[in-house]
Amino acid sequence: MSLNRRNLLKFGAISVAAATMVGCNSEAKPAKACESSSTGDSAVLGKHKVVVIGGGFGGLTVAKAIRKKDRSVDVLVIEKNETFMSCPFSNSLLGKLEDVNLGTLVHDYAQSVEAHGYSMLHAEVTNINRAKKQIHTTKGIVEYEILVLSPGIAYDYENQFKDWDADKIKQIQRVAPGALIPGKEHIILERNLNDMDDGDVIITVPDGKFRCPPAPFERASMIAAYMDKEEIEGKVIILNPSAKIAKGAAFKEAWEDLNNDRIEHRDYCKVTDVDPVAKTVTYEEEDEDDKITSTTLKYEVLNLIPNNKANPVVEMSGVETTTAFGKVIMNGCSFQTKTDADIYAVGDVVGHAIPPSGQTANWAGKQCADEIVSRLQGKSYELPVKTKTIKSGNICFSIVGDKPEEAIFVTHDFSWTGKTIKGKGNVPKAPSGKFRSAPNAKATRDWYNGIMRDLFT
Ligand SMILES: Cc1cc2nc3c(=O)[nH]c(=O)nc-3n(C[C@H](O)[C@H](O)[C@H](O)COP(=O)(O)OP(=O)(O)OC[C@H]3O[C@@H](n4cnc5c(N)ncnc54)[C@H](O)[C@@H]3O)c2cc1C
Repeated sequence: MSLNRRNLLKFGAISVAAATMVGCNSEAKPAKACESSSTGDSAVLGKHKVVVIGGGFGGLTVAKAIRKKDRSVDVLVIEKNETFMSCPFSNSLLGKLEDVNLGTLVHDYAQSVEAHGYSMLHAEVTNINRAKKQIHTTKGIVEYEILVLSPGIAYDYENQFKDWDADKIKQIQRVAPGALIPGKEHIILERNLNDMDDGDVIITVPDGKFRCPPAPFERASMIAAYMDKEEIEGKVIILNPSAKIAKGAAFKEAWEDLNNDRIEHRDYCKVTDVDPVAKTVTYEEEDEDDKITSTTLKYEVLNLIPNNKANPVVEMSGVETTTAFGKVIMNGCSFQTKTDADIYAVGDVVGHAIPPSGQTANWAGKQCADEIVSRLQGKSYELPVKTKTIKSGNICFSIVGDKPEEAIFVTHDFSWTGKTIKGKGNVPKAPSGKFRSAPNAKATRDWYNGIMRDLFT
């Protein structure tokens, strides 16, 4: 254990303390609803023209874009966290990249509220009464004319580990967090890495669809870079229930060139149990003759990323969803739901065949805002994607190396198939003939700073 890592840990703790002081308690306080925190949860706090559930990538984009188009529209965002924390770029924190600290990822909601003049209620949504157009929250009831859902994902431990009871799930979530949902999970994972001795780090990949498909693999690259820097002996082992790796050729090339066998990807490995006391993970592998072998591995740090599903807020709204994941079924080429003309959806819960990313949520948020404002102004509106391909509607970078910092990326063009909006991906090579490059790493940082500016200023 190096002193260097201990110092970083101390700095991390200071950053967290600072982070808890922002949000509704800060000086900038335009959100009226923020102040009614003592109200009982059955009191009606007020009615708003547009209510957005979720102050993440999708929700903040919709709120800002509506206000930018039409300052007269009254918009309220309901967000349970007091502070915004970014998942994008968070793997760079684990890799201890230069000038990246918790402050890089944490942002003050008061800044965006002030800049764009929407309101924000810091409360958790607990139910939605669609017939009465009421949202029940931990601080009271909010009424809406138009509702936008952007609550992101939830974990599905219950279906993945049917033998685990609620206490075990809580324990695993605490000691081996998935770190796909903004908040303390990233901080715990970083602390576990700061505290680790020599030994292996295990990352488990979720089964089925999940948020930011390249994230577990970028995380492996960043943790390997961190272990190199700190001269920690051990491997980063990725247990993948399939053979699929997003941006697979580009990641494999980087791992082979840069990581000297430190990163080991094992495909068709399904995690069946974790013993947090013995610090072991057990997984099953099925061979070509359907023979199942069970293996138990010891870990020093575990990042158990559980299967994903749509956030329960979607189910609360009662709109029709897909059976797998629970994505919202959309109304044609639109971000309106099929079930209810007054409910829209953006972000990772959207049922279009577009990648679940912050950039996609930002694009969708702007489209959705255009739809809503046109409707409120009594104008007809059709999404531009209905008649033309949107080039690079999504772009998603992954940093794969440090010293020199290098990254790979994927772009998705969006088009309307007649049934859904679909993304077509492309992972380009750099002029060197390799997928990764230093300019891509600079572009990653520029992209991150740009999207943060877009949400908060
Ligand atoms: C490690 C990692 C790296 C990533 N890297 C990239 C990247 O490089 N580029 C990229 O484009 N994307 C990236 N992503 C994906 C990106 O973070 C998501 O796709 C994006 O955040 C989706 O936006 P959203 O609005 O749907 O959800 P979120 O941004 O998660 O926002 C949902 C919000 O709803 C709030 N909420 C949930 N339930 C309730 C409730 N009941 N009441 C009130 N509020 C509630 C949550 O607190 C949250 O703030 C990455 C993700 C991870 C995990």
